[in-house]
Amino acid sequence: VTEATEIVILPRYVRVNTLMTTLEECQNVLKRENFIFLGELKATTQFNKDFTYFNDHTIPNLLVFSRNATKYLQPIVEKGYLIFQDKASCIPAHILAPAKNSVIIDACAAPGNKTSFLASLLNKTGKIYAFDIDKHRLNEMKKNLKRWEATYVEAIRHDFLKVKPSDYTDVEYILVDPSCSGSGMANRVDQPIQDKSNELSMRLGKLQNFQVMALKHALSFPSVQKVVYSTCSIYQEENEMVVKEALESYAESFNLEFILPEWESRGKNESFEYGHYCLRASPENDRTIGFFVALFKRKNIQKI
Ligand code: SAM
Repeated sequence: VTEATEIVILPRYVRVNTLMTTLEECQNVLKRENFIFLGELKATTQFNKDFTYFNDHTIPNLLVFSRNATKYLQPIVEKGYLIFQDKASCIPAHILAPAKNSVIIDACAAPGNKTSFLASLLNKTGKIYAFDIDKHRLNEMKKNLKRWEATYVEAIRHDFLKVKPSDYTDVEYILVDPSCSGSGMANRVDQPIQDKSNELSMRLGKLQNFQVMALKHALSFPSVQKVVYSTCSIYQEENEMVVKEALESYAESFNLEFILPEWESRGKNESFEYGHYCLRASPENDRTIGFFVALFKRKNIQKI
């Protein structure tokens, strides 16, 4: 892999934990701490002043600060009222948009950032089963969920691939955010595919294998209506190619949705003709980490 060609400084995104507080209450606290609210962040607005902040225009209850504000926000974050979460990582729960009282599976959930956003959207109704295979990460998630008062979540140590769909017939929403290369976290400009070393190709192959299995498994749940797939990877192998393979197997029962039409950065069409139905996010274009999101929706089956 070649050297990074550009580093973009990202804002510090902070999500209001609406299970514990409201946007208004947080804004009052921030005012007392001398922060000045400057309205909605526009694409060209600078966000580098320590004591100013904005609303994000895509995700409700998401605030945008300069990275230097992190240390001043830490005490409020430690109490659980605010949660550090990159804007791109908020998109999966935002587009899954679960109805109140619904039952959700978060397939690969630890440390629980997306789970807690889903819990906020359910607003103390329904139920979330949050699976993770890793003991330490699961414990970390349990601590986080307790701090964030996400009480309607059951954190379960389990291999999602071994979760039986017939035991979860009431689940209508599934979020699949599997282990990935994490290549979007490095603020890197996309690397051309042919630049990849053998070692990286092998690693991507293994990750892809699991990602496809996890996504297909989610699509096999009997009552699931919406499945979101996301990664913080920049590679098509972990993104468009995974979605393509899963869609080929489930095209009879699921459509791929064209998500957030107003979002300009789209998935790539090179390896998958419907790539642009998916969404990409990048430091250069979107002021976020590198990210990928796709949404599958069950087709309406006509009853005869
Ligand atoms: N969704 C999380 C969040 O927003 O905080 C981040 C999830 S992280 C990208 C991927 C997670 O998948 C890791 O915690 C890993 O332990 C878990 N994982 C890997 N293989 C798994 C499996 N077979 N079943 C369940 N979880 C798995």
